[in-house]
Amino acid sequence: MSEFQHAEAIDVAVEHDVAPPPVVAVVGRPNVGKSTLVNRILGRREAVVEDVPGVTRDRVAYDATWSGRRFTVVDTGGWEPNAEGLAAAVADQARLAVDAADVVLFVVDATVGSTDTDEAVADVLRRAKKPVVLAANKVDDNRTEADAATLWSLGLGEPLSVSALHGRGSGDLLDAVLEALPAEAPPETFGAAGGPRRIALLGRPNVGKSSLLNKLAGENRVVVDAVAGTTRDPVDELIELGGQTWRFIDTAGIRRRVRENQGADFYATLRTRSALERSEVAVVLVDASEPLAEQDLRIISMVIESGRALVLAFNKWDLVDEERRHYLDREIDRQLHHARWAPRVNISARTGRHVEKLVPAIETALDGWGERVPTARLNTFMSDLVAARPHPVRGGKQPKILFATQAGVQPPKFVLFTSGFLEAGYRRFVERRLREDFGFEGTPIDIGMKIRE
Ligand code: GDP
Ligand code: GDP
Repeated sequence: MSEFQHAEAIDVAVEHDVAPPPVVAVVGRPNVGKSTLVNRILGRREAVVEDVPGVTRDRVAYDATWSGRRFTVVDTGGWEPNAEGLAAAVADQARLAVDAADVVLFVVDATVGSTDTDEAVADVLRRAKKPVVLAANKVDDNRTEADAATLWSLGLGEPLSVSALHGRGSGDLLDAVLEALPAEAPPETFGAAGGPRRIALLGRPNVGKSSLLNKLAGENRVVVDAVAGTTRDPVDELIELGGQTWRFIDTAGIRRRVRENQGADFYATLRTRSALERSEVAVVLVDASEPLAEQDLRIISMVIESGRALVLAFNKWDLVDEERRHYLDREIDRQLHHARWAPRVNISARTGRHVEKLVPAIETALDGWGERVPTARLNTFMSDLVAARPHPVRGGKQPKILFATQAGVQPPKFVLFTSGFLEAGYRRFVERRLREDFGFEGTPIDIGMKIRE
């Protein structure tokens, strides 16, 4: 419940028209200087973008800029050796990082030279088709340069010597990282001009995403079976449904199950975020046969925060009996309060039940997402609303809504020009009434205020 509280659509600042920055993952065994290097790259620690929930404290992503280019740095420190030992654990770590990253920054301690663990990581990296930048760290002065040269033996190209601690060589290293990043994608446009509409199929593991995808792709025409993304590795699929072509985002990530592993959650979250950035509407699958999980709510919150249209698909309906249905209704009432506006479909990816209802629900959500209320109509609505229920008097004053405009769509954004601060409760009331009058089914709404004194 508390997880969901912050998802209140009203207070959400939405930035949806920018492509996600590329991801640079920093890998290497403990004590080689990864964290020091990340700090060096960031310059200062203040650039924290997120502490992804459910993640070990020290595995975080940061926003970084170099030569005017923005990227996300993922620090993969802070793991424990697993049962198979250190080398295996680090190699696993590298595999996960490779999956999520555009570029891998592999850090080795030049003063130690390459160890078995370093070689295990190099093995993984050579096999992955991702660009790798090899940092020979702890080269604090000229004397250690020769040590760096021995790291050619890792077979990953030129070791770039750097001193994370003192900053020596870090500019050249960052230049190399930038060079390895994918070309900057042109800003994506939504809607008809932007090609097929883009759907992200989301949900925690085992809710049936790949089953649904197979069902959809299997029974319908797959226009081009694989579309290489312009940035990152995700591969989208174009599927024709209901006489229209849709682009399913990052189906590679759905089909190629990310290994159940340490940190898998973290990368799943990054993937979800990046799929959301590229999509217009999210279909969030939940397993209707089980109680709603915290992770379900978190994913739904992410969709709302990203300002995307939302459809909720309750899958495995073939397993839902009368009793379960009763409990599910109660869970929806209690826990999905803030997503009441999302169209819901009860489907079974296994039997195909009601799968055909997905497309109309998606269309409804996209319509709501793009809906615009003419200013004149909006202001008639507002004055009626204020007349029927004025804002409560506070401290002898009564804030009034002077006028309103819809500042944007996808998602709808409203700006209320007021004579004083409107309480959250009143803004929620405005949102509720907007939805009653104008629909906005399947979309978060952003309501901002401009106070005129
Ligand atoms: P991590 O476990 O890979 O994240 O490594 P840390 O960043 O925590 O660094 C491990 C140790 O190496 C710390 O004591 C750092 O101060 C030290 N260290 C990191 N970079 C350098 C460097 O460039 N030169 C030297 N001499 N020490 C370094
Ligand atoms: P994903 O991890 O979200 O991609 O989930 P999968 O598609 O791999 O499905 C996980 C498990 O749930 C598999 O064993 C599926 O056969 C099963 N499953 C998926 N959809 C349904 C459904 O509608 N009904 C039932 N009974 N099982 C399903």
